Amino acid sequence: MESVILGKTGLKVNKNGFGALPIQRISKKEAVYLLQKAFRSGINYYDTARAYSDSEEKLGEAFLGMREQIIISTKTAAQRAEDLRKDLEESLARLQTDYIDLYQFHNPAFCPKPGDGTGLYEAALEAKEQGKIRHIGITNHRIAVAREAVLSGLYETLQFPFSYLASEEEKELVELCRKTDTGFIAMKGLAGGLIHNAACAYAFMCQPQYAHVEPIWGIQRERELDEFLSYQDHMPELNEERMKEIQRDQEQLAGEFCRGCGYCMPCPAGIEINNCARMSLMLRRAPQEAWLSEEWQDKMKKIENCLHCGNCRKKCPYGLDTPELLRKNYEDYKTFL
Ligand code: SF4
Ligand code: SF4
Repeated sequence: MESVILGKTGLKVNKNGFGALPIQRISKKEAVYLLQKAFRSGINYYDTARAYSDSEEKLGEAFLGMREQIIISTKTAAQRAEDLRKDLEESLARLQTDYIDLYQFHNPAFCPKPGDGTGLYEAALEAKEQGKIRHIGITNHRIAVAREAVLSGLYETLQFPFSYLASEEEKELVELCRKTDTGFIAMKGLAGGLIHNAACAYAFMCQPQYAHVEPIWGIQRERELDEFLSYQDHMPELNEERMKEIQRDQEQLAGEFCRGCGYCMPCPAGIEINNCARMSLMLRRAPQEAWLSEEWQDKMKKIENCLHCGNCRKKCPYGLDTPELLRKNYEDYKTFL
């Protein structure tokens, strides 16, 4: 079973990290079963967030009485010190614990630093001194903020989207984390559902240059858990066949393809750009039913309300003409329906 050291934290985690966002969508009983099975099978790292509704509560229930055996990270999206303190108390209560191993700023639009006027970093430090949190990390979808955080030396870990569809710039960020001994926690290892071959995704993460990378897989179903667990004993090789599949995906998804990163959000018209702008791909690469639900039809219809303010286009790091991409995806969606 391979393990990863999360940078300066020194925390030793199983190469399979458990992303606890999807357990929001299942019952408490099912979630507890899944989490305990993961633990029994060697997974010792669980990542959640204050914003993931009852995910923390489910973790708290699953691991009651065995706190020292697992490593938990959670997140706060607080904008003010006062809210961070409130969030932390709430997380501790729901997780039924008196400490968080890794406390992360949840995708802030800027890199919190001491003296920046928000008091956020100071509040996190204070919580660390009080023993309520053991390490401070940050999660982000914006490469500039992520790089700034790593270079600041203030963060022990960075959580960032990373998969075999990563750009050169993103791979450089991963390397920067290795050089600065910043733990790198990879979210969206399956590119938010665009990558179907989990073995390819896993094999990519297990390359020697990514020995410091800790992927967290969003797990909702037992078969998904079983699949990742099976790789622990039989690590998939990055053989010729898998390399070809990766290459095929990279080619297919090159150019005008929305990575779902969310850098361009929020949208003043309330459009969920990170999914709507890649709907055509989702419909063809993932099971369709969920994307054709009434809820998604409503979300896609919001594209009609686009204000053409251009904010999303300006912010997209991939240079996409986002409003045009949304328009094309909406046309295709209506035809598909
Ligand atoms: S151009 Fe349209 S989609 Fe983009 S941010 Fe503005 S309103 Fe939202
Ligand atoms: S349009 Fe660009 S910034 Fe927005 S989610 Fe897609 S890739 Fe990311």
